[in-house]
Amino acid sequence: MDKPFIGILPHLNTEKMDYLVRSGYLDAVMETGGIPIMFPPTLDGDTVRQLTHICSGFIFAGGQDVAPALYGEAPLPECGETLPDRDKAEGMVLEIALHENKPILGICRGEQFINVYLGGTLYQDIPSQIGSELTHNQPSAEGEPIHEVVIEHDSPLFSLLERERLPVNSYHHQAIKSLAPDLKVMARATDGLIESFYMPEKRFLWAVQWHPELTFYSDENGQKLFAAFMQAVQEYAKLK
Ligand code: MN
Repeated sequence: MDKPFIGILPHLNTEKMDYLVRSGYLDAVMETGGIPIMFPPTLDGDTVRQLTHICSGFIFAGGQDVAPALYGEAPLPECGETLPDRDKAEGMVLEIALHENKPILGICRGEQFINVYLGGTLYQDIPSQIGSELTHNQPSAEGEPIHEVVIEHDSPLFSLLERERLPVNSYHHQAIKSLAPDLKVMARATDGLIESFYMPEKRFLWAVQWHPELTFYSDENGQKLFAAFMQAVQEYAKLK
C-alpha cells in the first residue's frame, strides 16, 4: 500500500514572508509511515479541494492568534497578530476533513482554531485576562517541559499514555475559554486551563496545546501521540 499523504497547515512568518513547518512535524509524519505535504496559503477552492482530497490526515500547526471576530469578540490590545486569510484557508480544509471524517491533529494554534471553528471561544491573552501561577509562554525555544497537565481518566489520551500527569512545554498566551459543544476535555493544566480535547464522534480528532513536535526526537509521549494519529490515518487509508 502507498504511504498516506498528511497535509500540514504551516506557520507564516509575516516579516520574512516565509512559510514554515518545523522539522519535528515532517519527521514525525515520516517516522510513523506517512508523507508530509505542506499546504500552500491559498483561498482557491479548487486547489484546496484537490489537495485535501489526496490527503488522508491533517495536522493544524502552531502560529498566530485566531482572529477574535471568529468567536464574536473585538480584539483586545493584548491580542497578538492575526491572519484572517489563514483562518479562512484553514477553515476550508477543516470543513472538508471533518465532512470526510479524516484524522485531524491540532497543535497549539491548531488546537485553538479547531475549537473556535466548532463554536468555542478563547481567552485572547492569559496574563491580562485571567492570570495564572503557571508559565504558559516559556521563553526558551528548546521545548523542555515547563508545567504539567492532568489527563482525564476516561479519555483516549489516558488510554494511550497510561498516566495521569504529563509534563509539557508551553508556548501560548491564548487559551480555550469555552470548549465547543461537540468536543470533550482530554487534559487540563494544573491551573485548570484546557490543554487537550478530542471529538468523540469522529474517527480521530485530537488536539493539544503543547508542542509534541519540538520534543519528538527524545520524548516517548510525543512519539506515542503522533503514532496514534498515524494509526488512525492508516486505518482510514485502508477503508478507501
Ligand atoms: Mn500551557
